[in-house]
Amino acid sequence: MRILFLSSEAHPVIKTGGLGDVASALPSALKNKGEDVKIMLPAYPSVLEKVPWIDEGKDIGKLLGIAPARLRNSEMPDTGVPLILVDCPLFFQRGGDPYLAPNGEDWQDNYLRFAALAKAGAMVAEMPDLMGWHPELIHAHDWQCGLLPAYLPRDRNLRPATVFTIHNIQFQGIFGKEILPSIQIPEDLFCDRGVEFYGKVSFIKAAVAMSDAVTTVSPTYMEEVKKDAMSGWGLDGLLRARSENFHGILNGVDYSKWNPREDNSIPHNYDSGCLHIKPENKIALQAEAGLEQNKDVPLIGIVSRLAEQKGLDLVLPVIQNVVLSGGQIVLLGSGDPGLEKEYLHAAASFPGKVAVRIGYDEGYSHRIQAGADFFLVPSRREPCGLTQMYALSYGTLPIVRRTGGLADTVVDMESEHNDNMQGTGFVFNEATSADLMATIERAFNFYRDKKSFEWAQWRGMQCNFSWENSANSYLELYYRHRR
Ligand code: ADP
Repeated sequence: MRILFLSSEAHPVIKTGGLGDVASALPSALKNKGEDVKIMLPAYPSVLEKVPWIDEGKDIGKLLGIAPARLRNSEMPDTGVPLILVDCPLFFQRGGDPYLAPNGEDWQDNYLRFAALAKAGAMVAEMPDLMGWHPELIHAHDWQCGLLPAYLPRDRNLRPATVFTIHNIQFQGIFGKEILPSIQIPEDLFCDRGVEFYGKVSFIKAAVAMSDAVTTVSPTYMEEVKKDAMSGWGLDGLLRARSENFHGILNGVDYSKWNPREDNSIPHNYDSGCLHIKPENKIALQAEAGLEQNKDVPLIGIVSRLAEQKGLDLVLPVIQNVVLSGGQIVLLGSGDPGLEKEYLHAAASFPGKVAVRIGYDEGYSHRIQAGADFFLVPSRREPCGLTQMYALSYGTLPIVRRTGGLADTVVDMESEHNDNMQGTGFVFNEATSADLMATIERAFNFYRDKKSFEWAQWRGMQCNFSWENSANSYLELYYRHRR
């Protein structure tokens, strides 16, 4: 099937979070199954820099009547999945983050920038001659691509099937009604079956209302967002109404990138058959992070956006107790300036025990996964979460809160399903520092029993969250909706 993946990011050419991983791994898995997939992305500077080649493309005039643009063919540097790039300098030739201006605020014209991306996607579908290829189905992602179905022809026979995935319902793309003329959405779509949401324009709501099928990234998160207005950020009612066509499909792990046997970002490769090598990564990590080098202290790794959603404020009050219990913490993250400051302060207060690096560093994130004993994800809300699955494949036991995809992927050591046979990590229920600390203590006690610990590491490494399974679920959905 000809499938167009419309996304605002895809690793390795541009990535700010889990969406970037998904938007590159899923198309690659589909391509390996023989599907004719292309990814469509904005031509940000980092994308133009990282692709192996790019053609001249086609002039598509001015997007939204103001921004001259070309659609250019290229391909992903690692997987060879074909790319269609929206080369529109006015909107996308900007340094730094795809969504945020240098002052940390959203780019003021994000509604125009991402309306233009969706519009370009619709043009490829509507004009078969434009790229010499047109999709039978478009799979669009998150609010940035939410207007896609609003730009497609209304006649069902003239439009491709549409699937929309919610990676995080918190980010919705809500703007005042006055933007309608500038984004070229007709007034009659400002309605309950269109873009209107409590008197405003919502990009995500448009997609939820107008796509043939809607998915989100784990079964538990799907149930959570349907539950009530708070969990569903106001979209719960619509999602309940769309239940029949709303599905929770767990994200997968790209094991070609996240596999300790072949990972060239880590100093000592290993697998579940030679777990005795893993502590050498721990010593190397401790050295790199400036922690005391000791194989026998429990080391907790954290790699995360620093945001309220991720629950990292819950960790700050327990850092002292972790250190008093003999543990170490290594954190890599960036985001909320207040949290950044507090973590740096914690590192300064416990030198050799707590190491904090503010920033984004792909290689270091791999070395933390390989070197830590535990990997902490204390999220308040977590649609799927990838890092706990990476941790499992590195034999690093996850400590997670029971929410969204974390609940779907980590089996608590003491759960009724465990029988000491299936536990892969430690799961706590309440988003409180007390519950978190009690669980860390439980994990540290477990750590002392080396044999049980190694067995649990081994079990985690046998988990298979490969894209193969998720890709099959998506394909089933695609074929169900293809016209
Ligand atoms: P989210 O998309 O909500 O940020 P996920 O767990 O789904 O969370 O995905 C986060 C991805 O971003 C993972 O691949 C993780 O390793 C990566 N990541 C997050 N913060 C950093 C960072 N500071 N440096 C490197 N990688 C990071």
